[in-house]
Amino acid sequence: MSALRVNDLHRSFAHLKAVDGVTFEVPHGSVCGFVGANGAGKTTTMRILATLDYPTAGSAEVCGINVVHHPAEVRRMIGWMPDHFGNYEHMTVLEYLDFYARALGYKGKERRQRIQEVMEFTDLIPLAERFSNKLSKGMTQRLGLGRALLHDPQVLIMDEPAAGLDPKARVELKHLIRVLAQEGKTIFISSHILSELGEMCDSLLFINHGRIVHHGDADSLRRGSDLLGGVLYDVQIDGNPAAVSDWCVLQQGVQFLESRKTGGRIRIETPDPSQAADVLSRMIKDGLRVIEFHREERNLEDAFIDILGRLDAGQSPITPPPLPPSSLITDP
Ligand code: ATP
Repeated sequence: MSALRVNDLHRSFAHLKAVDGVTFEVPHGSVCGFVGANGAGKTTTMRILATLDYPTAGSAEVCGINVVHHPAEVRRMIGWMPDHFGNYEHMTVLEYLDFYARALGYKGKERRQRIQEVMEFTDLIPLAERFSNKLSKGMTQRLGLGRALLHDPQVLIMDEPAAGLDPKARVELKHLIRVLAQEGKTIFISSHILSELGEMCDSLLFINHGRIVHHGDADSLRRGSDLLGGVLYDVQIDGNPAAVSDWCVLQQGVQFLESRKTGGRIRIETPDPSQAADVLSRMIKDGLRVIEFHREERNLEDAFIDILGRLDAGQSPITPPPLPPSSLITDP
């Protein structure tokens, strides 16, 4: 059973289709990054999962429980960290967490223990007496995370938790997310900062105009093909580097892109690894003394733009690298 299962989810606001047939699953104990431009539909999807909004059509389940039919049960299982949340004036960090722990029904020693654990984890103990509306952005996010963790939820839904954080606070947040993932929690996290998500997520879910356009792991995205299906290789040889470009001119399906000190960058027109193996063996057969031949990785932003470009060109947005069947998207 998946921790999150969303099936053909729709949410319209008058004529606007904010979420337009979204289907995906997030396996238990994994970290899934939810990526999309402003207005793509991330918050709307997350709010439905967090039982704060109703879908127009379709279904969403958390740990097998339907969010519309059994919202109270779902709330017990999720920690929700919205992109903005209010802090109460004249309430210290400790009082803030105590207030929410009481609201969650914790009593006496158990409540104090739970608050202590959460404050230790989020490094809030030195700030216990600080007024919650006098915290920096990074501290505020840690307080929000602490609040979301009070009832030790299995699933954490975080909407843009890294927005507005300085690099140090982002590193701290990333560390906390990693630790939570190691503890086996399922984390569904949205962000605009793709490179950061790539480092901490087992899979990335891309949404565009309310529709899922890709679900895959960051490594296969980095190794994926470009908009026209080609892949780039860095080739270095022992000898005159111009031999690489001279050789490419005579080949079909191989283009020379750019010279480098001891060789150059080439583009092979298909992502098929056997094609790359053929190119390498032909190079060697033709006398090039190859000392390095490796596939270049793209950054995630380029990969995302390629996926959007494929959509504009009417091609299938789903890139080929294989994933476990449970994490594949079945959107049309
Ligand atoms: P951002 O990164 O800017 O937070 P997002 O991907 O989270 O964007 P959503 O907040 O889900 O996007 O919004 C998706 C679309 O739905 C947007 O066009 C937004 O204006 C619209 N929308 C969201 N909530 C409402 C609402 N309550 N009433 C009307 N339109 C809404």
